[in-house]
Amino acid sequence: MLSKGNVKTHIVDWLKGLKNPTTLDSYAKPTLLRPPPLIILPQEHNPNIIKAHIPDLTRSYQALPNGLKDVLENNRTWANTKSLREIKFFENLNDKGQEPKLFWIGCSDSRVVPETITQLGFGQIFVHRNIANQFNANDFNCMSELEFAVHNIKVEHIIVCGHTKCVGVMSACNDHLRPNLKAWLSDIRRVKDKHPELFPDHVTEANMSQSEKDKLHRKLVEINVSNQVSKIASHEVVQEAWRDKKRKLAIHGWIFNMKNGYLEDIGITIGR
Ligand SMILES: [Zn+2]
Repeated sequence: MLSKGNVKTHIVDWLKGLKNPTTLDSYAKPTLLRPPPLIILPQEHNPNIIKAHIPDLTRSYQALPNGLKDVLENNRTWANTKSLREIKFFENLNDKGQEPKLFWIGCSDSRVVPETITQLGFGQIFVHRNIANQFNANDFNCMSELEFAVHNIKVEHIIVCGHTKCVGVMSACNDHLRPNLKAWLSDIRRVKDKHPELFPDHVTEANMSQSEKDKLHRKLVEINVSNQVSKIASHEVVQEAWRDKKRKLAIHGWIFNMKNGYLEDIGITIGR
């Protein structure tokens, strides 16, 4: 644990270590390996920013494993950079509400980050994510978000977004799934009754090329997205909104293609 004197020494050493503390360029490159760099600004410029750059040296912070310290340090670097570039950014974020036009229902997969792949910013997209982008009317989480998005925020578009290489979809019919996951993916498991050709047995699968497997998987991902779009469109929450003739609301089915990063509209948009 750092004593008061050591904290001062630590900060002084840090300041000495900066090659060019006044340029934005050297500051704007977040790193996982270094503590967030400091920028020395004239006190009259913005005293709060100088305060914000002092690293958190509390005991709880020091006790964190390095991987988590990196996360907090990256956050501090991002927040400070944002403040410098857009002086009122956090003031606006704090004071103004949100008015997103899009409600996104996507997979929890860490490779499919809606804000990144759509390049939408803060306040522009309302997000619900779960394994294999399911819409489940028995799930209070999903249902409360749908109600909030449609009736409170009054979004104009609901997007169900699946993705290629979705492990949730691929493993839905694995009999060795743990019980909660097995129940959660039951909607996809039911697809097997209508489309048994999409679920080859192990012998058949062993004789298939990778591209043949990818085609089957892609088809299953599309059917899954299409099913969720249909369920949302027929739900009372959406039906109620559509009874208002002036209300703009449409539901779309998209797929994120990991091969090229493109979002693909699979052509199943449902409006009033
Ligand atoms: Zn997925």
